[in-house]
Amino acid sequence: MVKTALVTGITGQDGSYLAEQLLAGGYEVHGIVRRSSNTVRRRLDHLTSDPSLYNSRLFLHYADLDDVTTIRRLMARVRPDEVYHLAGQSHVGASFEIPESTCEFTAMGTLRLLEILRDCDPMPKFLHVSSSEVFGEPDSQPQHELTPFRPVTPYGAAKAFATDMVRVYRESFGLFACNAICFNHESPRRGESFVTRKITQGAARIKLERQGNLTLGNIDSRRDWGFAPDYVDGFRRMLQMEHACDLVLATGRYHTVTDWLDVAFGHVGLNWKDFVQQDTKFMRKADPTKLIGDASKAKQKIAWQPQTSFDEMVVAMVNADLREV
Ligand code: NDP
Repeated sequence: MVKTALVTGITGQDGSYLAEQLLAGGYEVHGIVRRSSNTVRRRLDHLTSDPSLYNSRLFLHYADLDDVTTIRRLMARVRPDEVYHLAGQSHVGASFEIPESTCEFTAMGTLRLLEILRDCDPMPKFLHVSSSEVFGEPDSQPQHELTPFRPVTPYGAAKAFATDMVRVYRESFGLFACNAICFNHESPRRGESFVTRKITQGAARIKLERQGNLTLGNIDSRRDWGFAPDYVDGFRRMLQMEHACDLVLATGRYHTVTDWLDVAFGHVGLNWKDFVQQDTKFMRKADPTKLIGDASKAKQKIAWQPQTSFDEMVVAMVNADLREV
């Protein structure tokens, strides 16, 4: 029987890869999109321009995350087997500028969805994409599913609330609800305001003489960075588990912003030191230095491990940006 999935955040980096993977797996896919004056959805263009998919096995519906009535109606109409909740304000730095809307959509938006699911009969399986930012400044490294939450950003605090609520609804109402606690993951579809994409786009543009230099914040920042399609594959696997649980998805390896610069500029035959300058304007108010994940439970439960190396990911992003410039 054909499975039906409902995806929030389908227009985002992860949502677009998830839609592709679900469609390839034979699913009917329904995505929730926000109404805006701009109807360009670049990350989905290749899917929505395919008449064998769009409005045949892929459907888009308007709803904001605070539009409970519409989402409830949609849930009743679509009757999804699986709900993948990816939507939210995803920029950690921006969450200091817009803390209220970050919490409104990321924290309360998740709770509202859980409330809707609680009334569904049968209740669909539910996956929430949580973040390593819930660990903030942890006491121990690497972080795993039992590491206490100590968020240091509005984004991290909002995700921590949402993550706890998913667990509470699983334990209290018997929902098949999981948190994928994801460490950073990137791809050619990463938003242009993220440092990783700024670097790959900058390297491509400087190489093609469309840009003179690149201004960044702290180049010693370090994170556990993986490749988005690998993580999305983990989301799908999680909803096929026999019992719902939370899993950390991570590479278990640190890289610095300088590593990104070395690989990206090296790939186009340039020395980044000739082009990169730093500006305190781009420094984060709180820059977690200890976030590194232990994904051994994911390996054991869903046979998941990252397939793409750091260098492969950076080179793929630079190559895509060279084509786009
Ligand atoms: P993106 O920013 O690329 O995508 C976010 C999506 O959420 C977009 O589709 C956006 O729609 C949608 N959205 C935002 N606000 C609303 C709203 N009020 N109503 C409806 N839709 C909304 O993020 P990613 O794909 O990178 O991330 C997916 C999820 O994973 C996010 O929740 C993020 O916080 C989380 N995450 C991501 C990590 C990463 O490294 N990428 C790491 C850990 C967690 P629109 O296109 O209209 O803006």
